Amino acid sequence: MRQLIAGNWKMNGVASSLGEVALISSALIARPPKCDVLVCPPATLISRAVEIGGTVIQFGGQDCHGEVSGAFTGDISAEMLADAGAKAVIVGHSERRQYHGETDALVASKARAAWRAGLLAIVCVGETLTEREGGQAETICRSQLSGSVPSGATGENTLVAYEPIWAIGTGKTPNQDQIATIHAHIRTCLGSNMRILYGGSVNASNAKGILSLKDVDGVLVGGASLKSSDFLSIIAACRGA
Ligand code: PEP
Repeated sequence: MRQLIAGNWKMNGVASSLGEVALISSALIARPPKCDVLVCPPATLISRAVEIGGTVIQFGGQDCHGEVSGAFTGDISAEMLADAGAKAVIVGHSERRQYHGETDALVASKARAAWRAGLLAIVCVGETLTEREGGQAETICRSQLSGSVPSGATGENTLVAYEPIWAIGTGKTPNQDQIATIHAHIRTCLGSNMRILYGGSVNASNAKGILSLKDVDGVLVGGASLKSSDFLSIIAACRGA
């Protein structure tokens, strides 16, 4: 399976940040990557990012509303993201679950909205440190998958990002055995050929080891996706098709 290196800029980036997209794009044109590359900037930048890097990079949103349109001030529909040139959208990121109280059922409705708009849904799951230490990581992921990945999900319309909450933005990662074990478990739960990304403190130094693991079909990168040089090093660490 061709790996996917995806960047999540979170609430970072203004027009001047598009220089990073230009740098990534020109490097990938000069040396085509052996993996797929996706960047999820703030929604305000998607259409301009597509104009700059759309030939070699796919762009995505970081969240969407479940409805097509309506009286939902401040929200963005999957159709609006698609209209801006997005090909994918992250749903159920732990920061959305934590700060916006998003439930599995809501995340599933967002994944269905993504499909309706023709977008790839990137469904995030992952346990807290307490759950990991209590031996609950697999149970929590299984439960989140069954609640957040709607029936009808296939390798074409959905991928799953395993992001242990305690690893996000902390510089800590599970060890390679822990990543391999939980990815194998997620593969069994999904029972399909959906790509499974690892996310949580991936950087230029640890990417190669993580991307070499079986059942790791790519990575979702937060902080290290903001600087083109770091993100390009992670892209260069992919396993290759
Ligand atoms: C993320 O928020 O999806 C993420 C993986 O963040 P970081 O790489 O900064 O840990």
